[in-house]
Amino acid sequence: MPFSANSVFQMLGRAGRPGLDSEGFGYLLAKNVDERDWIEDHYFQNAHTIEPYVPKYNDLISGLNKLNTLKEQVLLRIYEEKNITLDKLKEFFQKTYFWFSIKDKMSKEQIPIDQLLMIKEITPANILKLHSDTEKVKKLGVRRYQIKITKLTKSNVSGYIKTDFGVFFTEFDVDMGIRCSCGFENGLSNNYSNEQFSFEFCDHITAFLLHLIEIPDKNFQKYVEDIVPKSVKNQYVLNYLFEKGLIIKRDNGTIKCSQFGKLIIRLYLYPVSGVLIRYKLENAAIETYQDVIKEAYEVLKSEIKVRDYKLLQPILEWCDEEPLDDILERHKIMAGDLYTIKDNLERIITFIGIIAVHLSESDRDIAEAMVKVAEMSKTLKIRVHYGISEELFDLVLRLDNVARIRARILYNAGYHTATKVRRENPYVLNRKTGLGINLCKKIVGKK
Ligand SMILES: [Zn+2]
Repeated sequence: MPFSANSVFQMLGRAGRPGLDSEGFGYLLAKNVDERDWIEDHYFQNAHTIEPYVPKYNDLISGLNKLNTLKEQVLLRIYEEKNITLDKLKEFFQKTYFWFSIKDKMSKEQIPIDQLLMIKEITPANILKLHSDTEKVKKLGVRRYQIKITKLTKSNVSGYIKTDFGVFFTEFDVDMGIRCSCGFENGLSNNYSNEQFSFEFCDHITAFLLHLIEIPDKNFQKYVEDIVPKSVKNQYVLNYLFEKGLIIKRDNGTIKCSQFGKLIIRLYLYPVSGVLIRYKLENAAIETYQDVIKEAYEVLKSEIKVRDYKLLQPILEWCDEEPLDDILERHKIMAGDLYTIKDNLERIITFIGIIAVHLSESDRDIAEAMVKVAEMSKTLKIRVHYGISEELFDLVLRLDNVARIRARILYNAGYHTATKVRRENPYVLNRKTGLGINLCKKIVGKK
């Protein structure tokens, strides 16, 4: 959706500005001139001209438009309200920033609010309205491209579209989402953190969907009406939260958070990340430390905290006590990269451990396996943090001035516990380990 300064202004709380046209006018955001000036200075580049506003932060909408964030906000709302009705939730939606990103569309197109908010399943025709520019649809309706449907199954409808710029492959898939060979993608599974609540189809998808809707065959329409909404099912915020067991409907019709939903809120975790971690715990065979790291890395990849697998091997080597310089040189990475991924992994591993404990309490069948993962996560967090094997824990955690390298030297010289080191004469320690005498005195802790 193209950025309009008016929509920002409305987002800020519905304000008008003297000298602008009357769209979005008639409300006052700022209580007085000072407030208005403050808003202009902080949010717009050209605050003091008569031209339409130019926002200072380009990602103002895109940042607020993340589907992920919306799911989190709705879950948080339900959590805070304890018991909330659907009508109240609708009211809440109308106060969110997301509302403003689709409000313009709403006024032009007649889309029922339940469908728009993805509370009820949305029809293919309304999906087209919501995610395509009206003018474009009109033009495409007149200038017909050649379209060929090449696949129609219960879960997929796809085909080719021939334009002046070449042939494109477009696809609606229940599992993979919507894709086009031009690069457009609104997937269901991976890289979810960039998915937007309001987005625009590429021309090819728009033309293809228009074509699908207009095929008169009733039987064919049954497929379309089933597949197309499912291919955007992650957009249904409430449906998603219900389906993933984050919220529950009570007998009296109100909605409340499930235990898992509450846990997600308390952890400050994106619902989608929490669901992914739970899925991995329930489905992936997590048996070794490496497995935990790999799964945690996948979560980071979904959150787009990392782009590729370049840092996976280095972090595994770090945990196995490979010298830092060797790792950096071998993989041609910077120390900063490694430390950033290290911090992020620690965070995810902590969540894995906590969610594993939760699952061990709520699902007896996997309780034993979950307890094991929880224990592994606890250990692994320390390994990732210090870059050490488990046998060095006592030395690193309990001695001053001892990190991974010195701990290894001490250990290899026969000092396996902090107690043993502390009882040693610094001069003997110095002779046995080669560590400097002043350092040995500090480590032992005697003056
Ligand atoms: Zn395309």
